[in-house]
Order: sequence, then C-alpha cells, then structure tokens
Amino acid sequence: MALGGLHRVLCRRWVRWPLTVLGCLGIAVPAQAVDVDNMRLWSAPDHVRLVFDMSGPVNANVFTLDDPDRVVIDLDGADLDFDVDALDLDDSAIDAVRTGVRESGGLRVVLDVNRRVVPQSFTLAPNEQYSDRLVVDLEYPGESAVKDPIDPIEAMIRDQEIAAQRAKTEAVAEGKPEQAEEVAATVEAQPHPKRDIIIAVDPGHGGEDPGASGPGGTHEKDVVLQIARKVKARFDQTPGFKAFLTRDSDYYVGLRQRTLIARQQKADFFVSIHADAVRSSQPFGSSVYALSQHGASSETARWLAVNENQSDLIGGVDGNLSLDDKDEVLRGVLLDLTMTATMNDSLATGSQVIDQLGRVNKLHKSSVEQAAFVVLKSPDIPSLLVETGFISNPREERALKSSSHQAELAQAIYAGIVAHFRQHPPPSSLLAWQRDQGRGGAGDEYRVQPGDTLSQVAASHSISMKALKQANGMDTDILRVGQVLTIP
Ligand SMILES: [Zn+2]
Repeated sequence: MALGGLHRVLCRRWVRWPLTVLGCLGIAVPAQAVDVDNMRLWSAPDHVRLVFDMSGPVNANVFTLDDPDRVVIDLDGADLDFDVDALDLDDSAIDAVRTGVRESGGLRVVLDVNRRVVPQSFTLAPNEQYSDRLVVDLEYPGESAVKDPIDPIEAMIRDQEIAAQRAKTEAVAEGKPEQAEEVAATVEAQPHPKRDIIIAVDPGHGGEDPGASGPGGTHEKDVVLQIARKVKARFDQTPGFKAFLTRDSDYYVGLRQRTLIARQQKADFFVSIHADAVRSSQPFGSSVYALSQHGASSETARWLAVNENQSDLIGGVDGNLSLDDKDEVLRGVLLDLTMTATMNDSLATGSQVIDQLGRVNKLHKSSVEQAAFVVLKSPDIPSLLVETGFISNPREERALKSSSHQAELAQAIYAGIVAHFRQHPPPSSLLAWQRDQGRGGAGDEYRVQPGDTLSQVAASHSISMKALKQANGMDTDILRVGQVLTIP
C-alpha cells in the first residue's frame, strides 16, 4: 500500500486517534516516542502469535498485502529497540521479518508469510509481569489446532456412537427403557468397528502464560508439556488407544479452546496436566481434581442458556446432539443425566489415577478433589486435572525436571486411565470387542519373573492391585516366581 493510502486508512480512524487527526490536518504534534523493547513469537499448528513489548501504549494498524503475501504492522510514533533477527521463525508461516521507519514517522514491521493468513490484533495494558503489549495473531484458515487430527473414518464411527448414546440417554429421560435396548441392539448388529479410544492430553499454560514457577526458575508450562508428551507416547504405544495434545509446543491455548479442541477431536477422555505452587516451599505431592457438583450445576445452566451454541451441545459437533427440538424440561434432564454420568466416570477414573500416582509419588491429597476448573467443564467428556507436584518445593521442582520422574508420573496417569477403560470400554472400541471375545487386551496370563512385585505386575498391565488379587483369589501381596496370574 502506498503511503497516501496508508494515510487515508489512519485518518479514517480519527475518532479513536485524535493525535492522528491533528497529524492529518498538518499540525505538528510533539509525539511521545514509544520503544518496542522486545518481540516474542509463539508458533501453533493453526496460528502464530507475535507479541510486541512496548514502553507505553501505541496505536497500531495491521493489514495484509498479496503478491507476495505479507502482513504489515504499523506502529504510530514507535521506535524499534530490538533485533528482529533474534526471533525464531521455525514452524511458523513467517519466512522473514523486515522493519523500517515510515515517512510520516513511526515503525513499520513487514512479515513475509508463506501462506494465506488472517491477522487479528489487540493491545494489552501493563500487568505485574509485562509492560504494554500489542498482540498480533496470524490465523491459518482451514488448519487443525492439533498436529495429528482424528481421521475422518474414526470420526464417523465416533459420531455414530455418540448419536446412539444420545438416543439411549433420551429414551431413558423420556421413560422408555425398551427403546434404549433397541438402540443398543442396532448398534451392536453392525460389524465391530474396533475403534481406538481417544485421549486428549492437555499440558497446562504455554506461551506467554508460564504457569507457576519454581525457586530454581523452572516453569510449569515446560515440565507439564514434557510429562504430557510422555503420557501421549504411552497411549500411542498401546493398541486400542490414540492420544493427542491440545498444545504440542510453547504457545498459549485458551481454557474454553482446550475443551473445544477435545470435542472437535471427539475425545473419550480429557486429562489436563499441571504443577502446583504456593507461597510456602514446604507442601509437596500430587493431587487429582474432577469437576465439582457446583461447577457442574452452573455449567449445565450455562449450556442451557447459550442458545446460539445448541448444535454444539453434549458432543454434537455436527448437530448430533442438538437439543433445540426438545422442550426445556427435557433438555435439562438430558444435560443432567449426561453431566452426572460424566462426573461419575471422572471420579472413578480419578481414583484409579490417584492409586497409580501414590506408587510413584507422595500424595498431597489421597482422594479425588473437586473444583470448578474451566477445563473440566465438558458436559460429555469425562475430565481430570492432575497437579503432578509442587514446583514451589525445591526438591519436587528438581524431581519434576527429571526425565525419569516425569516418565513415572506419565506412566501412573496413563495406567489409571487405561484401567478405567479396560473396565468400562466404549461399545465400538477395540477394548470392548476384546472383552466380548473373552480376552483382555493385555493378554490372559502372566508368569511371575524373579524380582516381580504385585504392584509392578498390576501397573504393567494397567490394572489395580485389588483387581489383580481378586481375579486370582489372592489374600496376600506376595508372589512366587513361576506363578501364573490371570490378568482380568
Ligand atoms: Zn497450572
């Protein structure tokens, strides 16, 4: 765009920018220069975020040009006090960053981009941590927010299963249990899809939100991403499961966005991974949270109130679960039934996860706690939030950074969730098929090796010690080498 055009753009916005108006009238304004002290860049699969840290507030104009594709960011009365070559552009749509001084004064930043992008920008006032900021998001139209999105066939199977589940819930809500049986019979008559159970693994925080920080300077966002990757890897190694990360690098994802991603990927389960911090350096240990009754009730009310999102209700991304054809009472009953089932699943899985975490770490609380965390509020996806440990405790901060401790925590979270799904597999899953064939996914039997302990054997088959003992009629934890255990 030529400067004349730019001038017109700026002048049209005179209501918000009286200084610019004066400039347009040819009156010299003694401008207070603002310095751009720093620029930060966060790259996500579906967007890149560029943050300008500035010494004061600034008027900005952001627009795109094509042939070749560029994004222009004009900052009125600003000077650059930062070397743009220091920006790491890897994995972003930005190929190069160029800067210059505009004829009318002020800073122009040009981003050369290698694909079509849709820019969004906003400013943020200073807070404890940062000065004035300009945030420019370049969104990539048509890209998924996750690296490895669900395949369309799996998505279709999930849709059918969700629709059947909804029909069953509806039949129950309407007091017609025989209809629920019919639905179940129709679904089971088809060739078994043996689908993977899909787990959303959500590393807390990211990007400009570091989360809690330890006395040694460790950021929560970094250790939880490392643990989350290990959790995902464990699921991906296990037949019948597939996991994805709600963020797979160092960028921020909004809280509602995280649950939305889980819904889009048709997750069967959502687990958010965090590390605690408190003022005191004493507290330590892991805790597990599920949604509280109060949080569930207020969320039900919110869902019922949000009319424009009805097609998105309870898993109905494609309108499967749209409730707008139902009267309000029935909608309430349906949501309550769904929410209660989801909460019960969350609590049951939470107990299994606590049980497993207790083997590798001290527990801060020995039972599942309940709170109204936003990420736990999906009405139809059982969800847990795991506080892996206290990053504010110097000893635990060191442990959280260690790869071996991270692997133990990841294994515990994985094993707890797997144990729940082995007991309650979704109807169209491989695990359900295996159960119906009368064989466990982990193999029927295990011969005890020298050095084995009951807790290790249970953990390696993702079952509780209690279940293993029950299946083998044992009243002791002692194993004999060569003993053959039935794996339930
Ligand atoms: Zn956190």
